[in-house]
Amino acid sequence: NEVKFIGFKFNSEGMSTDSDRVKAVQELSMPKNKTELQSLLGFVNYLRAFIPNYSEIISPLRDLLKRNIEFRWEKNHTDVVEKLKGLISERTKLANFDPNKPINLECDSSKDAIGFALFQDDQPVHYGSRSLTDCEQNWAQIEKEYLAITYACQKLHNYLFGHKSVTIFTDHSPLLAIHTKNFDKIKNNRLKNLKLKLLHYDFSLKYKPGKELYSADLLSRNIIPTRSSEPDSGDIIHSLCCNELVVSSEKMDLFVQETSKDPVLKHILEYYHSQWPNRHTLNQIGGDLVHFHNLRNDITVEGGLVYLNQRLVVPTSLRAMMVDLLHETHLGLEKCKAKARQLIYWPSINSQVENTISKCYVCQRFSRKNIKEQLINHDIPDTPFSKIGLDVAE
Ligand SMILES: [Zn+2]
Repeated sequence: NEVKFIGFKFNSEGMSTDSDRVKAVQELSMPKNKTELQSLLGFVNYLRAFIPNYSEIISPLRDLLKRNIEFRWEKNHTDVVEKLKGLISERTKLANFDPNKPINLECDSSKDAIGFALFQDDQPVHYGSRSLTDCEQNWAQIEKEYLAITYACQKLHNYLFGHKSVTIFTDHSPLLAIHTKNFDKIKNNRLKNLKLKLLHYDFSLKYKPGKELYSADLLSRNIIPTRSSEPDSGDIIHSLCCNELVVSSEKMDLFVQETSKDPVLKHILEYYHSQWPNRHTLNQIGGDLVHFHNLRNDITVEGGLVYLNQRLVVPTSLRAMMVDLLHETHLGLEKCKAKARQLIYWPSINSQVENTISKCYVCQRFSRKNIKEQLINHDIPDTPFSKIGLDVAE
């Protein structure tokens, strides 16, 4: 007998603030080192306008950050943090939601949790966070970041749905490219599923460096781990691609195996799930890694295979075989290249296709330009325009 709606709780006693709005703040754990403390203070500093005697209150914490001071967490530090949490969570410090004002929503993900903070006029309205499931913790960073946005949108559905001025901030710039891409260009099914859930909401996605995303960053980093249930895996899109590469499962296994052994692709598998090293390291490893690094925002990994947009990146050992397959029916050069553009990719694929076709015995033997047609004379007509000849030139 209680209804929660846009940050309020309605029951027989009347209206009160929904404590869910600040639950994420109340559940923040105590910092365990200087870095975590800095992150907490960054967040608190962002909200200092709502904290009376701000500098005075936080001074014991600031002392802990001083150079040459050992990080020793004492009871008085815990007291300060609890006090800050109380001040931040207090009803008066949270702005009430105004449907006529623009919404700024910050979302972030750490390695084991996601968090968000909704602001209007720079005032916090609603915080939220949850820990990632064991399965989600193994997701790639880009997937976790997109999950954070999806989670926030679903949690804040009543604020966001139908709202015309929503800006969502992420500190993961590759997401911007994914978000503006059409469904059929996204190969990664996880990202596709998440994007499907976001279709309900009208928002623009913007990049903000991590150090400016105080709230969401902190909420996703310092939450007390809780066991959350597995997220619903409904709405699975099996395929929205029109140009899927159709291959047998044996061939698929071969591709996965060769990809994991490929001197370049094996690194991409690794980087996709962690992080790309800097260019200097890439140059040292060599190969086409720098080339792929430039394309990294369009690269996804799915089922042990590397994709560039919707094109499968073929491991070196299978490239010759793939060109032969492309040219199996002796299609002309342009048609072969067009087919390749839809399905498969590797650096310099075009020249390899050209090379193979130019050496193809069957094509040379039977290509149309090699067939010499005999010239046939026609009779000279008696009057002008009694016979008209037409031809089409390329
Ligand atoms: Zn041929």
